[in-house]
Amino acid sequence: MIIVDIDNTISDARWRNEYAERKEWDIYHSLSIHDKPINLHILEEDDSIFFLTGRPEKYRDITLKWMDKHLPKKTRYKVIMRPESDFASAPKFKASIASYFNKITFAWDDREDVLEAYRKLGIPCGNPNSKRAPASILEQGATTFNERNALYADNYLLFGGVMAALLPNGVQINSAENWNKFGLLIQCVSKLTRFCNSPDMTHRDSVHDLMVYAAMLESIIGD
Ligand SMILES: [Mg+2]
Repeated sequence: MIIVDIDNTISDARWRNEYAERKEWDIYHSLSIHDKPINLHILEEDDSIFFLTGRPEKYRDITLKWMDKHLPKKTRYKVIMRPESDFASAPKFKASIASYFNKITFAWDDREDVLEAYRKLGIPCGNPNSKRAPASILEQGATTFNERNALYADNYLLFGGVMAALLPNGVQINSAENWNKFGLLIQCVSKLTRFCNSPDMTHRDSVHDLMVYAAMLESIIGD
């Protein structure tokens, strides 16, 4: 699972900062419905996502409406907000919640003091707004590979065998339209083999993707 902050992590709240500076919190939070989305690439579709925000509970409806409007439809998530009676600092509040979970693979937040609190708990974390060093990008890439590999096993090594069985004489492609068909066929085979290699053949997303790519394939074949 990943933990993701909201304000200035996936929503651009900078334009309403003046209200935070004046401690006009109700206006500050109420305006969040108009924020533009940012950094949505950090929300990988296979992650279990917990949004952890310092926004008080009474802004849950606004928050969920904003997410419904801006997050990809397939995104599944839960939102943990600050209870009305909680006045702890953001790092303290977020660390106390994060310490309940033991399967956090990564935490995203724009505040350095919050990231520091996560680091103290041993949780890998980062600010999606900051440019990262190549080594850090590679580390995160290795984490992603290990997570996906645990789910799909070595599916990528089986893919070639399936394609060779389907097309024993190879293929000769000489038009853009046929390359389009071939591209979609590859996606279909990839999703099918992923499904077959998912634990107990339960990876529903792969089945949905397979339907989508098959429909796209049929649409370009035409009547
Ligand atoms: Mg924030």
